[in-house]
Amino acid sequence: MVRVLRAYGIRDARVLAAMGRIPREAFIPEGVCVDDVYGDHPLPIGHGQTISQPYIVAYMTELVEAAPGRKILEIGTGSGYQAAVLAELGASVFSLEMVPELVKHARAVLQARGYAVTVRLGDGYEGWPEEAPFDAIIGTCAADEIPITLCRQLVIGGQLVLPIGGVDQQRIVIIRRDVTGFTRTEDLPVRFVPMVHAGHRGTGRG
Ligand code: SAH
Repeated sequence: MVRVLRAYGIRDARVLAAMGRIPREAFIPEGVCVDDVYGDHPLPIGHGQTISQPYIVAYMTELVEAAPGRKILEIGTGSGYQAAVLAELGASVFSLEMVPELVKHARAVLQARGYAVTVRLGDGYEGWPEEAPFDAIIGTCAADEIPITLCRQLVIGGQLVLPIGGVDQQRIVIIRRDVTGFTRTEDLPVRFVPMVHAGHRGTGRG
């Protein structure tokens, strides 16, 4: 898998080494059947959700510059795999997930492996105001538009990296916060599951 990532242009040796150390299969919930966990494609984790293909995990990890001393918010914990990659690189990670079973699963796996990740059941569109500001925010589900609430939870100099768009057309968008405001850069075309508005899941919060 690491060889493929390098061939696709992932250059950050720290990211490659971190992903080489983390067993992907450990993050697949029990009862979900997959073969070829190390292929460059998404993996099912139940509840209609997936772990992104390794290339996208590596690419987004590079963009949020995960490193010791950096505080990173993830939207969409899912299996906990992306959060583990960020934590393996030394970042302190906060991660929001809206499916209770996945919160439970991810907490257990991350804790068993000793990662500094705090997982909470919550709506990604609201971010995590009590822990803000963050050095970076990474979204692993696609929002229909840029959530301004999340932008405001960045430090000056911080970046929000998240897929924006509908089911068929999405791009990774990078929002940087500086003293004068926000700048937006459109990046790779991608395909993620949608960032669901809480009201539509019947969580009673929308
Ligand atoms: N990062 C994950 C992949 C997550 S898939 C991993 O490495 O396994 C996207 C996740 O986003 C799903 O688990 C989905 O339940 C969650 N999600 C979707 N909308 C959300 C929202 N509004 N708030 C929080 N999580 C959300």
